[in-house]
Amino acid sequence: MKWLTGGGLATAGAVGAAVTAGLGWQGLALLFAFFLSGSVLTQLTGGAGGRRNVRQVIANGGAAALAALAGFWTVAAGALAAATADTWATEIGSYSPTPPRLITTGVPVSHGASGGITPLGTAGGVAGAVFLAALAWVLAPAAAGSAIVAGAGVAGMLADSLLGATVQGLYECPACGAQFERGGAVCHEPVQRIRGWAWLDNDGVNLAATLVGAGVAALGWRLSR
Ligand SMILES: [Zn+2]
Repeated sequence: MKWLTGGGLATAGAVGAAVTAGLGWQGLALLFAFFLSGSVLTQLTGGAGGRRNVRQVIANGGAAALAALAGFWTVAAGALAAATADTWATEIGSYSPTPPRLITTGVPVSHGASGGITPLGTAGGVAGAVFLAALAWVLAPAAAGSAIVAGAGVAGMLADSLLGATVQGLYECPACGAQFERGGAVCHEPVQRIRGWAWLDNDGVNLAATLVGAGVAALGWRLSR
């Protein structure tokens, strides 16, 4: 399996089973749309994403699995829209001719740096949210307004960038200034934390983004009743 580690594959199976148990084949189709579109984009952009492990699968699909088990189609779709928007934004944004800027301060950062956004990547993320929302509507026309699901996806993507720019752990080599997303690494010297919380890594931020997507979808669903 090219796209998942062994543990990631088992976890993805559990997520798929939960989504199918709660929402039927339509839920599984929505999950596959997220997974396949993200994997294909990652391949097209050079496979920088690598094989997804257990933590990454939970970060992207855990919230959707729980919402699906509870039978909340709109909430599960909102969580998946957020995960799709994040993935599309990252992959499509890698083609950006302009360097990313930190969503908070506008300071230019390197491609792939957490919290960095580009116009192209943001447009790609919105397209991902709209794609997932449109498919959710096709699969279950009676369930939810696709505007709610798309909005939830965009909100999750923005939350991902905001958290990535503020509270996600960021580390730097004191000697050369190279930045890292994980502590414990040694560049020229052991890296030191310069921003954020040591316990909050990219997987944690992705999970939080899908929870924001789920929450916004739940709120939108409630308000639209
Ligand atoms: Zn260094």
